[in-house]
Amino acid sequence: MKCIRCLEGEATVVAKAPDGSGAWEIYTCDRCNFGWRSTEPARLLDPATREPFFQMVGVDLDKLLTPCPIPPLRK
Ligand SMILES: [Zn+2]
Repeated sequence: MKCIRCLEGEATVVAKAPDGSGAWEIYTCDRCNFGWRSTEPARLLDPATREPFFQMVGVDLDKLLTPCPIPPLRK
């Protein structure tokens, strides 16, 4: 399965309903690290209906800024 945000990475199942019912699964993308649940509303699971603002199609992830840079250690 492809990632619903970047449309390039492969989604991996990282958790499943522990009772084995298949009621829900959680996925993460190996490219952009986005995570989502299988139980999200359909409009959020379908890349065609997701808000374009939240998509990362064609984004060079290596050029993104680190949101919370770690300051140097104090001496
Ligand atoms: Zn992705």
